[in-house]
Amino acid sequence: MTPFEIANSRNAELNAFLEIFEEDRFPAHDGPLSGMRVALKDVLALKGARLTCGSRFLEHFESLYTATCVQRLIDAGARIVGKTNMDEFAMGSSNETSYFGPVRNPWDTSRVPGGSSGGSAVAAAIGACDVALGTDTGGSIRQPAAFCGVIGMKPTYGRISRYGLTAFASSFDTVGTFSRTLEDAARALEVMSGFDEMDSTSAHMPVGNYSEALQRDVKGLKIGIPREYYGEGIEPDVRRLVEESKETLRRAGCEIVDVSLPHSKYCVADYYILTTAEASSNLARFDGIRYGRRSSITNYELRITNEITTSNIHNSLEETYRHSRSEGFGREVKRRIMLGTYVLSSGYYDAYYARAQKVRRLIAEDFVNVFLSCDALLTPTTPTTAFKLGEKVSDPLAMYLNDIFTVSANLAGVPAMSVPAGLDGKGLPVGAQLIARHFDEETLFALAKEIMQNLDYPKK
Ligand code: GLN
Repeated sequence: MTPFEIANSRNAELNAFLEIFEEDRFPAHDGPLSGMRVALKDVLALKGARLTCGSRFLEHFESLYTATCVQRLIDAGARIVGKTNMDEFAMGSSNETSYFGPVRNPWDTSRVPGGSSGGSAVAAAIGACDVALGTDTGGSIRQPAAFCGVIGMKPTYGRISRYGLTAFASSFDTVGTFSRTLEDAARALEVMSGFDEMDSTSAHMPVGNYSEALQRDVKGLKIGIPREYYGEGIEPDVRRLVEESKETLRRAGCEIVDVSLPHSKYCVADYYILTTAEASSNLARFDGIRYGRRSSITNYELRITNEITTSNIHNSLEETYRHSRSEGFGREVKRRIMLGTYVLSSGYYDAYYARAQKVRRLIAEDFVNVFLSCDALLTPTTPTTAFKLGEKVSDPLAMYLNDIFTVSANLAGVPAMSVPAGLDGKGLPVGAQLIARHFDEETLFALAKEIMQNLDYPKK
């Protein structure tokens, strides 16, 4: 079957794609990436295609321009094959907050694929594309990659332009890739990376040769095992397979060292204070006037208001905002907006937001310090393998705790990758996470190659 046929034949069951483009809809031209098929998480803009962000608010919204990273892939000859399902505005860890229904995990369809880039993880896992783009604000590439048995690459914050990515938490949001091979991840990253004048946070840093990094010898590299990432609550099979990855690296000549990231226990709380604050501000633009859905209730109320005074215009506007936002956003997005508004409000700003910024600094310093004594860290990507659909939906805290090993890399801005490490006793994929210094994606590729070389690579 061609990737196009795979996408079409399996979508009714898995719901990974929100849209699959006909083969001639976005024709590709010749270039270094000719033949590469790329699926886009539906939070990335492609001119002329719908851009829903998994939300009812943007159900019928069409993008007016193309994201820089997507344009660079197109210019290099890649073909864009479709838009993938996701948690609403990238908020979630299971893909169950999508307005367009959950995505199912191809390894066991009663289970979640992870989130928020669940559709992209599945698209890559089943071979419906070579590379699927995702975004990672707190783990949304690495966690679904781990759950679906593919490679999930989150580069350094600033490595890839965010222009054309709908913002969730702007100081965390990072574009990255899902793929079955490291070669595809490396090629896509080489093309997408580098400064873009449309995003002032994109970095003026030389782009590495990631394909070449795959040939590097890892002998002599120091691998840190942060003790805070091997505590309680990790499934035995996850622990065992990550240990095996560690032994693989040791056999390849790496030196394994015990290290500590002392502020790890604050990561999840810190992440959820800062990202909800940023989200409440970013999502203020969805008002029913400028973008997307406008509540029909308010249109009706506007029509029956025949006497126009300053005050009833004001009321009508307020009501348009209120009804449009009430109808357009789902429960999780509303929860985050309320939390974020709370931590930014005048009485609580210092106690929550300002303090969380300081804690972020401490967490980032932990990484600077740890990389004085090692070149990369090895941890589990997630404490468990894929959980059942519905299992955590009604318990937001349990859902948030699934991000315990992934949010730190976003708080610090360092690059991290989830690499397939084998299957657990239930036949579900386990991911090992590698974390490196800022802008040192090369080391991640070299180590990942070593871990995957000896793995009987699982396919779905
Ligand atoms: N699961 C995390 C959250 O819900 C991460 C999301 C993300 O990386 N986009 O915020």
